[in-house]
Amino acid sequence: MASLKLKNIYKKYEGGVIAVNDFNLDIEHREFIVLVGPSGCGKTTTLRMIAGLEEISEGELYIGDKLVNDVQPKDRDIAMVFQNYALYPHMTVFDNMAFGLKLRKTPKDEIKRRVGEAAKILGIEHLLDRKPKALSGGQRQRVALGRAMVREPKVFLLDEPLSNLDAKLRVQMRSEIGKLHQRLQTTFVYVTHDQTEAMTMGTRIVVMKDGFIQQVDTPTAIYDRPNNLFVAGFIGSPQMNFMNAQLVKRGDELHLLFGKDDVKLPEGKAKKLEGSVYIGKEVIMGIRPENIHDEEVFLQSMPDGVVDADISLVEMLGSETLLYIVVNGADFIAKVNPRIKAKAGEKIKLAFDMNKIHLFDKETERIII
Ligand code: ATP
Repeated sequence: MASLKLKNIYKKYEGGVIAVNDFNLDIEHREFIVLVGPSGCGKTTTLRMIAGLEEISEGELYIGDKLVNDVQPKDRDIAMVFQNYALYPHMTVFDNMAFGLKLRKTPKDEIKRRVGEAAKILGIEHLLDRKPKALSGGQRQRVALGRAMVREPKVFLLDEPLSNLDAKLRVQMRSEIGKLHQRLQTTFVYVTHDQTEAMTMGTRIVVMKDGFIQQVDTPTAIYDRPNNLFVAGFIGSPQMNFMNAQLVKRGDELHLLFGKDDVKLPEGKAKKLEGSVYIGKEVIMGIRPENIHDEEVFLQSMPDGVVDADISLVEMLGSETLLYIVVNGADFIAKVNPRIKAKAGEKIKLAFDMNKIHLFDKETERIII
């Protein structure tokens, strides 16, 4: 069983940088865990500590039930795929894939069988005699994956494996790695700074910032219920819109005031805020672009959330259109009907789906609802 446990893990580099801060995570056998966050948040350091390529400053790392802090990388039963592939330029594809097995003195027949099988799964059987320089970026990436596969490791660690590929190939390899995970039925830990990769590939996502875990959850839970302002803004593209607002009580109703708009909160949301310390206070309101609507049916059915907006840019993307708008002096993006006729410079009425808004504490930036 290839479960992993990271318990109170810290990484302090010489010079005082704390790259990873009290990292706690249980990874189950066969999970596809994605570590995601902006550059410098500690993703690679965490992965390298799991691989044994970086010493753990404090805390405990278990693979299965075994404490492996002091176990050599080669004895951890883990394979790592790097961003730059790290192929040996003077060796053929076959020899690159076979290299680790030869070091372990695996019998020749066995090596041939395993390399053949991996090459078949990855569709690179016809490339086995070539050298890396005669391969495309996508093919090199497959070889790097193949070299990890032949070792039949308990855990695959992948560090931004798609970042050197062009956009189209990246999408293709994304689904191929997903299929590979299903086929191999092993544990994957995958590092990326790309939230789309995280959302599409992970069974669970770990969002990191400045060495700290911000949230661990399934992609949909993270999208629908972000813990804080950072996660809300980081996951989702275009990102969630934010605006300062004031929460006020009017009789039995709760209202949000932003600029000249005064919007009644739907009952469901108001109920969650009953007796809340935030009533009468400034908060940050967040709304995702797809929850701002231009169509008449929404304007009719959500009269409480209708606002006036000035359009500053219209971006047609084919399947959807992005409206860059200004509402009460704040910039917003709305993802609207692709056939919208609106133009930059015009005014428009839009409906905010107030059932889908989030509120955040201005100081702690933690989610309120
Ligand atoms: P990226 O997406 O840019 O690769 P990351 O999230 O993977 O970023 P890390 O590479 O883990 O981040 O780095 C985390 C922090 O540790 C950064 O502040 C980085 O500058 C620092 N760091 C990384 N390696 C070392 C090192 N060998 N010595 C000192 N500081 C380091």
